[in-house]
Amino acid sequence: MEITSESITSTCSHCQRDIPTSNIDLHYAHCSRNLQKCAICGDMIPRKHADDHYNESHAPLDCSLCSEKVERELWSLHKGERCPQRIITCEYCEFPLPAVDLLKHQEICGNRTEYCDICHKYVRLRERIYHDIQFHGNSAGAAEPSRDVGTAERERAQRRPARAQRSSHRRILLTVAVTGAVVAIGSFFLQKRVDGRQ
Ligand SMILES: [Zn+2]
Ligand SMILES: [Zn+2]
Ligand SMILES: [Zn+2]
Ligand SMILES: [Zn+2]
Ligand SMILES: [Zn+2]
Repeated sequence: MEITSESITSTCSHCQRDIPTSNIDLHYAHCSRNLQKCAICGDMIPRKHADDHYNESHAPLDCSLCSEKVERELWSLHKGERCPQRIITCEYCEFPLPAVDLLKHQEICGNRTEYCDICHKYVRLRERIYHDIQFHGNSAGAAEPSRDVGTAERERAQRRPARAQRSSHRRILLTVAVTGAVVAIGSFFLQKRVDGRQ
């Protein structure tokens, strides 16, 4: 009566695998010499590839934008929210620029003004949304903070006809009549027209 060598196994104390007992000594000698347990993920790694394994699976990543070393667990956070060199679009002019420069840029960019067709005055871009909500009960038509270039295109398209109307004589007279305030540029145009006719 013979017990097959395959049916009895022993656990290798190095790799914790079950090895046929008849092979265990040979296995252990080979295993302990050539494999090592990765201290981070617990996988058994060929000793000669230990560095490669660490570099490929666990080493911090080099951010190509800011050259910082970033732990893998923090990589998506770094790329999406933390990297000072990640590219962000300015909410006012939609120009893409590094996050580290955004604040300074938006301070200047948001100070630019835009003509409000409804109240006929210039409104700072940074106050445009608040202005529209406060005075016009909505934010439609405002330079909404948006990274959607399509939306911006649509808004620009909507503003174009309004701008054309504004330049008409009638519109200027109407504006003056309604608001009772002659804006410098309006009076200048009126003056010019009158002069031109004479
Ligand atoms: Zn082993
Ligand atoms: Zn590992
Ligand atoms: Zn970075
Ligand atoms: Zn801008
Ligand atoms: Zn307004």
